[in-house]
Amino acid sequence: MSPHAPTHYQVALADVNAHVFEVRCDVHQPASDGQRFRLPTWVPGSYLIREFARHFVDVRGESDGKSVAVAKEAKDAWRAAPCAGPLTIVARIYAFDLSVRTAYLDARRAYFNGGALFLCPEGRESETCTLEIILPQREPFLAWRCATTLPRSGDGLTFRADNYDALIDHPVELSDFTPGEFVAGGIPHELAIAGRHDADLPRLERDLARVCQWQADLFGSSPPFSRYLFQVMAVGEGYGGLEHRSSTSLLASRNGLPAPGMEEPSDAYVNFLGLASHEYFHAWNVKRIKPAAFTPYDLSREGYTRQLWAFEGITSYYDDLALVRSGVITASKYLELVGRVVTSVLRTPGRHVQSVSASSFDAWIKFYRPDDNSPNAGVSYYLKGSLVALALDLLLRSEARATLDDVMRLLWRRYGEPGVGVPEAGIPAAVAEVAGRDVGEFFARYVDGTEDPPLAELFASHGIMLDLRRASGPTDRGGKPAAAGTETRNALGVKLGNDLRLQHVFSGGPAEVAGLAPGDTLVALDGVRASQDAVAGMLERLPDGARIVVHAFRRDELMTFALTLAAAPLDTAFLTIDAAASTESRRRQSAWLGTPEPL
Ligand code: ZN
Repeated sequence: MSPHAPTHYQVALADVNAHVFEVRCDVHQPASDGQRFRLPTWVPGSYLIREFARHFVDVRGESDGKSVAVAKEAKDAWRAAPCAGPLTIVARIYAFDLSVRTAYLDARRAYFNGGALFLCPEGRESETCTLEIILPQREPFLAWRCATTLPRSGDGLTFRADNYDALIDHPVELSDFTPGEFVAGGIPHELAIAGRHDADLPRLERDLARVCQWQADLFGSSPPFSRYLFQVMAVGEGYGGLEHRSSTSLLASRNGLPAPGMEEPSDAYVNFLGLASHEYFHAWNVKRIKPAAFTPYDLSREGYTRQLWAFEGITSYYDDLALVRSGVITASKYLELVGRVVTSVLRTPGRHVQSVSASSFDAWIKFYRPDDNSPNAGVSYYLKGSLVALALDLLLRSEARATLDDVMRLLWRRYGEPGVGVPEAGIPAAVAEVAGRDVGEFFARYVDGTEDPPLAELFASHGIMLDLRRASGPTDRGGKPAAAGTETRNALGVKLGNDLRLQHVFSGGPAEVAGLAPGDTLVALDGVRASQDAVAGMLERLPDGARIVVHAFRRDELMTFALTLAAAPLDTAFLTIDAAASTESRRRQSAWLGTPEPL
């Protein structure tokens, strides 16, 4: 029993054209010295202080028909003057962010994460709350549906949450979205696709059902939720996802949804399925198996952990693996995706500067705040983290007749199911237990250190060859062999934008040695006006070691640089199945990829 009547929230679409929600919060017995309210500064799953309070237009209080003064006490805190109660706080919030992290309102759609709208009465965090959503009783709102996994509590749009954390972990979608449904793991799954799209819904339901079923089977017991919802916002260009305990919000390109009649999944659709698979895996790995630093979340400040490489990296490893293991993509497509990740990491000089555990810890100030120098000074705990997870899986498979799946099941039993936070040393301890040996050296070198995991060797033990080549142009993401004669001969050591501006200048490359800097705009190379074609042609025709004069603008000043060309690095990876591999290696390969056993 709660000592108080539940905190009651009411959301109204105050002005859809001004993108303003009005949110009322009723507190029946406010604190006698004046009730204080707080708003989260970040949302779990996205590790940056976002200051949701900056979108609050105004906050006022009322009680018994009279106004109650409300004073701001901190960037994220308000205090109402003492009153007998019940107290109502009324906030107006500007909501026009299409991302999956905050809130959005126009005449076509309302969407919100509770943390962006709901003030939390201090001291009442663990108490039950109720929510009521009021839609205008006119078109177009009469045609709107509501998609959320918040438990309903009666008729209409009324809901109930066990506590504030639960209230803000079920985002709400209101629009005339396309509904879909399927069953996986014996549990009903729903889809809500908002935005213009022409998706082949039965195809999407069928493919997602296979991926979800595979993940539920991996963890063994029935899913730790009684229903699951994929909220999808289809847009022209956009990509993002955020995990919740029994739902996920995805922002996706409408071209990434399956076109009617599509047979082999397109690259864009595989990308979408990978995103959906990623967020679904999080329902286990980070929403329930979660770092001790997040139990409970302190949403008023940064939550530090060195384990994001595991919660994001292992999840990134399983997102695409689930696609091949569930039969939604072929083994060769999967190997292409892995080759692209290896390529992306190889093109990051910062992988030898920052470890994935350090990248995890500094997510708040580095990974979520990338700048000109990020590729030289840091590494993605998603990408390198997924390669560390891959290396662990292949290592366990080749030497211990165990798998990373066994580690995940152990983590689930030990931490996820009982709701215990994973201590900072919990993951290596679980791996050591499954491996049956000390794995300190592996973690010291590849997780806390900056070495590349020994992938070539591990792939070889699974009958797969990892080859490196030069890139064949700026759009080459790797994953496949190059067509004959297309590999670039030389490189400048830069990432060049379409506007000929240097977005990144890579450590130790010819451009950095010559003195070029991020932000410089190329004007001429060797006396010839710069263009994408001219740059590509010159890199192809001149021998390495050739010296050229580069003209570039730094801000508005024309500068001249003497640059010595260097051979393009072997930074583009692709994987091929080794037809001559031993039977044992090919058996391991089949077990890993879920392909038929070799004869
Ligand atoms: Zn993630």
